[in-house]
Amino acid sequence: MADAPPATALPRRNGEVSFWQAALGGMAPARPPLGGDARVDVAIVGAGYTGLWTALYLMRASPGVRVGLIEAERAGFGASGRNGGWLSGDFAWKPERYLKNGSAEDVRRLIGALARTVPEVIARARDLGIDADIRETQEVRVATNAAQLARLDAEMAARAQWGAPEMPARRLDAAEMAARVAVAGALGGIEVGGVARIQPAKLVRGVEAAGATIWEGTRALALSPGRVVTDRGTVTADVVLRATEGFTARLPGHRRDWLPLNSAQIVTDPLPPDLWAEIGWQGYELLHDAANSYFYAQRTEDGRIAFGARGVPYRFASGIDASGAADGVTVARLIAGLHRILPQLRSVPIAHAWCGVLGVPRDWCARVGYDPRSRMGWAGGYVGIGVATSNLAGRTLADLALGRQSDLTGLPWVNLPVRRWEPEPLRFIALRGMYRLLDAADARERAGGTAGALARLGLRLAGR
Ligand SMILES: Cc1cc2nc3c(=O)[nH]c(=O)nc-3n(C[C@H](O)[C@H](O)[C@H](O)COP(=O)(O)OP(=O)(O)OC[C@H]3O[C@@H](n4cnc5c(N)ncnc54)[C@H](O)[C@@H]3O)c2cc1C
Repeated sequence: MADAPPATALPRRNGEVSFWQAALGGMAPARPPLGGDARVDVAIVGAGYTGLWTALYLMRASPGVRVGLIEAERAGFGASGRNGGWLSGDFAWKPERYLKNGSAEDVRRLIGALARTVPEVIARARDLGIDADIRETQEVRVATNAAQLARLDAEMAARAQWGAPEMPARRLDAAEMAARVAVAGALGGIEVGGVARIQPAKLVRGVEAAGATIWEGTRALALSPGRVVTDRGTVTADVVLRATEGFTARLPGHRRDWLPLNSAQIVTDPLPPDLWAEIGWQGYELLHDAANSYFYAQRTEDGRIAFGARGVPYRFASGIDASGAADGVTVARLIAGLHRILPQLRSVPIAHAWCGVLGVPRDWCARVGYDPRSRMGWAGGYVGIGVATSNLAGRTLADLALGRQSDLTGLPWVNLPVRRWEPEPLRFIALRGMYRLLDAADARERAGGTAGALARLGLRLAGR
C-alpha cells in the first residue's frame, strides 16, 4: 500500500491550531480585551483548563467573588485546546519526590485525590451541560518487545506500591492485548481503569462558557502582589494567580522555572468500518506504549485515530513556537510511529497535524503554589498530564485563594520546593541529550537488545 500523503494542517479559518478546535469550526468568537485599568478580587493569568477551572470553583465557593482572567490569545489557545484527550487521574510523576513535603500517607492522599478527579470532571461537565465526547474507558499500555514487557512488570510493581484503588490495573497477555487493539507485534499490555476519553477543545469551550470575565488578546507583562500589568492596562486584585503552564518561561523572572517542552499530534481521516473491524479498539481505550519515547493515542468519536508523541522536544533558551504548526520532521516521525503499530493505516490520509507546549519543572513533578503573604499563587508543571490534573489544581488554588484550609490545601504537591533549571547551554544539552539517548535505547530495544542503562542515563541527564 502507498504511504499516506503528508499531513497538511487544515486551513486556519479562525485562529485554530488543533484538529479539535478545527472540528468546532475554529475558535469561539473573540472576547474583548481589557479596556484599560480594572479591579477584581482574583486576577488569573492564562485561560486554559487551570485558569478556567480555578475561576469556576472560586465562583461556586464564593458566588459574589469578582474573577478576571487575563488571556494573551484566546481561551483554550494553549495545550488545553490541543492535547490528546486523555482524561486520566494516573499519577505520572515520581511519588517519592513528594515525600520531601509530606508522609507516604500524604502522598497516597494526593494520588487518590487525582484518581477521583476523573469522576469530578465528568460530573462537572454533566452539570454544566458540556458535551465533550466523554467516554469512560481504560488506559491500555502495549509492549512490542522484551524490554518493554519488562517495563510493564516494573509498572505493575510500582502500582502495587502506590496505585490508587480507583484505578485498578491488570496485566494483559498477548492474546488479551490483541483482542483490545490489534497493535502489530504486541506481546502484552496493561489495562488501567477509571479514565475517560474526551474531545479536549469541547471541554475547554464548555468550561470557558461558565461565566467568568475573560479578557482575551490581553498579555500579562508583569505579575506582582495585588497587580498584573498587561499590554492593555493594569488589573489590581487581592489575589493574583498564574496559570500559564508551558508558556511560563516567557514571563519576566520565570525563564528558568518550568521548561517548555513540545508534544505533537496527528489525526487521521475517519477510518472505514472494515478497518475498525480489523483493528478492534471497540472500547475507545486510551492507548500508549512502553517505549522510552512513547506515543499516546485515542479513537475519536467520529472514528479517527489521534496519535501523539514528542516533536522537536526543546528549543534553545526555552524558546516557544506558539503557532502550533508541527514541522515536517516531526510529522514524518509521528506518521512512521503510527504506521509501525498499525501498518494497515498506510493508505489512510492524515487530516491534520499540530503541536503544543507543556511545562516541566526541574524535578518533573506537577505542583500548586501559594504564598499567603503576597497572596500570589500558581499551578502547573504537569509534564504533559494536565487534563485531569488541572482540575485538581484549580480546586486547590480556589481554596488557597479564599484562605480556606481543606483536604486539598494540605496535599504535598502544594508548595513542593524545587530548584530552577540550569542556565543555557546546559538545559539545552541535557534535554536534547536525554531524548537522543531515549531514541537510541528504543532503537536498540526494537532490535531485540536491552538498553536500560542507556535510558537511565538519558533520564538522569535531565533529572527526570
Ligand atoms: C500536544 C499535547 C498533548 C497533550 N496530551 C495530553 C493528554 O492527552 N492528557 C493530559 O492529561 N494532558 C495532556 N497534555 C497536557 C495538557 O494539555 C496540559 O497540561 C494542560 O492543558 C495545561 O493547561 P493549562 O491551563 O495549565 O495551560 P494552557 O492550556 O497551556 O493555558 C495557558 C494559557 O496561558 C496563556 N498565557 C500564557 N502566557 C500569558 C501571558 N503572559 N498573559 C496572558 N496569558 C498568557 C496562554 O495563551 C494559554 O491560553 C498535552 C499537551 C500537549 C501540548
